[in-house]
Amino acid sequence: MRIVVVGAGFAGLMAAYSLDRVGHEVIVVEARDRVGGRVWSQELIPGNPRTVVERGAEFVLDGYDVMSDVVGECGLHFAPMGMSYYVREPRGVQTDADAVAACAATVRAVATQLSPAEPFTSVLARVRGEVDEAALAALVSRLEVTNGAPAELLTAAAASDVTVAFEASPSTRVAGGNQRLAIELAARLDQPVRTGEVVRRVQWTDESARVLTDRGSVDADRVVMAVPLTVSRQLDFEPDVPSSKREAWDAAGISHAAKLHVPLVGDDPVAPSAVQSVPDRYWTWTSTDGTGAVQPVLHCFGGSQSALEALDVAAGPTTWARRAADLRPGLRLDLERAVVTTWADDPYAQGVYEYPSTGWTMSHESALSSPMGAVHFAGEHTAGAWAGLMEGALRSGLRVSEEIRVSGEGEPG
Ligand code: FAD
Repeated sequence: MRIVVVGAGFAGLMAAYSLDRVGHEVIVVEARDRVGGRVWSQELIPGNPRTVVERGAEFVLDGYDVMSDVVGECGLHFAPMGMSYYVREPRGVQTDADAVAACAATVRAVATQLSPAEPFTSVLARVRGEVDEAALAALVSRLEVTNGAPAELLTAAAASDVTVAFEASPSTRVAGGNQRLAIELAARLDQPVRTGEVVRRVQWTDESARVLTDRGSVDADRVVMAVPLTVSRQLDFEPDVPSSKREAWDAAGISHAAKLHVPLVGDDPVAPSAVQSVPDRYWTWTSTDGTGAVQPVLHCFGGSQSALEALDVAAGPTTWARRAADLRPGLRLDLERAVVTTWADDPYAQGVYEYPSTGWTMSHESALSSPMGAVHFAGEHTAGAWAGLMEGALRSGLRVSEEIRVSGEGEPG
C-alpha cells in the first residue's frame, strides 16, 4: 500500500518506520524544516555540545518501554540525568518533598475512588483538613505545572496519572538529545521526509485518500494524521470528520507551558538538583549529560497560562530568568544568554500537549483515536493513559501501523 504520514514528530515517524519495515511505500510530509516536532534538542551555546538542551520533551519516565526498544534499535542510548523528575524540593512554602509525597498518597487514594472524569476540585474538597496545607499547596502547584492548567480545569485523573510519582527513580534522556531519535527514525525510511511542506486539506473515502499541500497533492491508500489535535481541528477534511471526533477535539484541554534555559558561569562545582517554585508555578533542575558531568545549564519548566503571564514569557526570558536567579541563589547564571521557548504561538503545535480537562469523558478518548475510512489518527493526544508524553506518541504510531496492517489484510502489500 501507499501510505502518506502527515507530521514527522515521534508519532508519525514511529508509524512510518513500522510501516516502511513491512514493505509499504511511505511518504512523510512535514511542515517544519526539521523532524521531531515537539521534541527539539539544541545547543544553548552554539558550538558547545555540553549545552544541548531540550526545548520540548525531556524526561524519559518509568514505563517508557516502546521508547526504550526503539532507542536501542536506532543505536542510541539513554544518558542518566543524576536527578529524579519525581522529587523536587518545594520552595516558597513551609514544607518538604517527603511531606508532599505523603500528601500526594492521600490525594491519590481519594482520587482513585472517584471517576477519573470527576473534577479535581472534588478531590480537593474531600482532602482539605485531612492533609498538611503547605504540602497540598506544593502538590497542587506541581499538578498545575505538569498539566499546564489551573486546578479548576483538571480532573481526578490528574492526581494519579503516570507523571504523579514521588519515589526518587532516576531520570534519563537520549544521550546527545531526544531529537536524535527522530533523526535516526527518519534516516531509516526508504524515502526522505518531505520537510517544509504544509498539509492543508485531506479528501477521503473508505478506500483511499488525497492529501493536499501547499506544493501539490499526494494520493494514497491510507493516510496517517500525526499532527497535534490543535492542528487537526483547523484542517479541512472532505467530507468532514464525524461529529464525535470534532466534539472530542473541542473538549480536549490544551496545556500552556514554556521552558527557560540559562547558562551557568564559573567553575563552581554544581550538583544535580530539582527545585520547584510553589507560588510561581515552575520548577528548575540541573542534570548530568552523556559525559556524566553536570551540564553548565539551569533548565526550567513553567506551566499554566496565568503562571506564564506572571513570568512574562511573551516578552522574552528576562523576567523569568531573574526570578530563577532568586530561587536558585547558589547558582551563577548568565542571565543575558537565557533562552525561553514557548509553544502556544508555534503554528504547528499551538500548545504543549493534551490533558483531560473537566467535561472530558471516556467516549471522547476513543473518538480521538478511532480511524475514519482510509484515514488513521496518531499523536500523543490519541494515546489514552500515555497522552501528553513521548511514549504516548510512539505507542500511537505503533497502534496505527497495526490498524493499517489489519485494514489492509487481503490487499496487495
Ligand atoms: P508533534 O511532535 O507535535 O509532531 C507533529 C508534527 O506534525 C510536527 O513535526 C509538526 O511540525 C507537524 N505538523 C503540524 N501541522 C502540520 C501540517 N499542517 N502539515 C504537515 N505537518 C504538520 N513528553 C515526555 O515524555 N517527557 C517530557 O519531559 C515532556 N516534556 C515536554 C515539554 C514541552 C515544552 C513540550 C512541548 C512537550 C513535552 N512532552 C514531554 C510531550 C512530547 O513532546 C509530546 O507528547 C510528543 O513529542 C508529541 O509527539 P507527536 O508526534 O504526537 O506530535
